[in-house]
Amino acid sequence: MDNNQPEKNVQLVAESPYILRKDISKDTPEIDIRTALATGNTGFLHSFTTGSAVDGPGIRIVAWTSGCQFKCLYCHNPDTWKIKNGIQVTIEKATATLEKYSEGLKIMAGGLTISGGEPLLQDRFTVNLFGAAKKMGIHTALDTNGSLGSRLSNDDLEKIDIVLLDIKAWYPENHRRLTGYEIAPVIEFAKRLAEIKKRVWIRFVMVPGYTDNPDEIKMIAKFASGLINVERVDVLPFHQLGRYKWKELNLPYALEDVKPPAPEQVDHIISIFRAEGLKAV
Ligand code: SF4
Repeated sequence: MDNNQPEKNVQLVAESPYILRKDISKDTPEIDIRTALATGNTGFLHSFTTGSAVDGPGIRIVAWTSGCQFKCLYCHNPDTWKIKNGIQVTIEKATATLEKYSEGLKIMAGGLTISGGEPLLQDRFTVNLFGAAKKMGIHTALDTNGSLGSRLSNDDLEKIDIVLLDIKAWYPENHRRLTGYEIAPVIEFAKRLAEIKKRVWIRFVMVPGYTDNPDEIKMIAKFASGLINVERVDVLPFHQLGRYKWKELNLPYALEDVKPPAPEQVDHIISIFRAEGLKAV
């Protein structure tokens, strides 16, 4: 197979990120992956999906990258953890795919969101694709767990109109328990974005029994309200659409029996953010 082409029957544009993608680039040599990561001339994508109204302003096309160093207990798309589960795509092909939707995105006041996985694991490809989008006059949003923000130069950040920054917990031990990683680099990135006045929406996933401690949420809210660039907070209720993926990938899933929160539980979390003067939805 030509490594720059998706395998037969694997469509780059998918109906939903909740379809399972596994081992699609399993035969790609490590040296090719290292070159791709270093140059950004090629990326690895779970898919593109269109028509999203929840991943940034307006109606958006979302590029879902594969590869994530976090291992969130509540991850909805654990098939995006491994870079080789994604489709290998040249920057030219990704740009051409985006171009097909460019006029519609502008009409719908939307744009391109790069999400994942963790897009900054493929920081050069992500920046290249944002650069291509800006040349087309398309609005750009980065959806990130924030831990690799130091990979972006200020010039790179110029190509990004808004950052959707996940804050998954506040207490370091809870952040480690949830993600396997430290929160400190995320906070550093948040502060840097504030210093350069980059538009930010914070995203917080509400998982009953894991991320619903009001005292901890208040700490996140206080931190966010102290940053001049945070325009809003999206409180995202945990759901189980990705549960089947954990099973298919033979991964132990700790949240098997966790139920999505009731609307009044979500409203309560929203009220904690609003009490600190934030626009929370
Ligand atoms: S950061 Fe996102 S993609 Fe990565 S493990 Fe967490 S929820 Fe999944």
